[in-house]
Amino acid sequence: MESHGTPLIDGFGRLHNNLRVSVTDRCNIRCLYCMPEKNVEFVPRAEILSFEEIERFVRIAAGLGVTKVRITGGEPLVRRDLDRLVRGLASIEGIREIALTTNGVLLAEQAEALRRAGLRRLNVHLDTLDRAKFVELTRRDELPRVLAGLEAAERAGFESIKINAVAVRGLFETDIVPLARFGREHGFQIRYIEFMPLDAQGLWDRSRVLLMEDILRVLGEEFGPLEPAPDPDPRAPALEYRFPDGRGSVGFIASVSRPFCLNCNRIRLTADGHLRYCLFALEETEVKSLLRGSAGDAEIRERIRRTVAAKWLGHEIQQAGFVPPPRPMYAIGG
Ligand code: SF4
Repeated sequence: MESHGTPLIDGFGRLHNNLRVSVTDRCNIRCLYCMPEKNVEFVPRAEILSFEEIERFVRIAAGLGVTKVRITGGEPLVRRDLDRLVRGLASIEGIREIALTTNGVLLAEQAEALRRAGLRRLNVHLDTLDRAKFVELTRRDELPRVLAGLEAAERAGFESIKINAVAVRGLFETDIVPLARFGREHGFQIRYIEFMPLDAQGLWDRSRVLLMEDILRVLGEEFGPLEPAPDPDPRAPALEYRFPDGRGSVGFIASVSRPFCLNCNRIRLTADGHLRYCLFALEETEVKSLLRGSAGDAEIRERIRRTVAAKWLGHEIQQAGFVPPPRPMYAIGG
């Protein structure tokens, strides 16, 4: 693989080697805090990047120092033959790690094939183990399939599976401990995610954010005080804490109360071919027309470079004038 000059460093000296690729904005569940139940306008299929276009983009980004790719959605497993894309990405020189974030509903059928294709890291989004509450939160009765998906992923050989749980105040408090127990029993790491202002219906409000410290307090009351774990990768967004008995750990994605933008190494490619330097960015760079047109790799490289160079210091959720991005989370990808 030909490396093309200086790595992707933004104006604040942050090196970017982590690309998140959304392969669809569609989803097979309807989480309350993400999208409306009905009348969701999805991107027309013809506007969604093909696997070949995604692979070309990732190959170019790998030449600029990108080594990690996370596949996201909407729900990525609703995209047919996703293992074909994973195999293609795994064959790109320089790409060392391929990860996936899924809601797990279709995981039981696809875990083996994804593992064989080269997928190594798995995050499954699951906010509750209570079936009735799952239906209330997602408007779909799919908890049994998610749990079957987790079992299939374990059988397929996925290790250190992470469970992403979104902590909305007033909805999530009674799930904190049952999920922690579930994680300890199965060797999964529960990732408690502070609710972010990225929902399509504008439900977000600071008062609805269950903070990391709130969750730590509840866990401490149940298991004894948790200790911060040594940080294996300061660039990774999660803050990890160990249970006092040493049986496992939990992670916190505390974007609201403990922003981690100073160490950010991520850029995002949306399903309809826009490059974003931040989850909350108010601007983005269109690359689909280049991927579909006659543009050479050099032109696309230049677009990637310019996007990273223009990156801001970080989100402004805590600031009075905070403006949420024009795209909701399901159209960006986590
Ligand atoms: S909010 Fe933006 S800058 Fe901050 S960590 Fe997330 S993607 Fe990076």
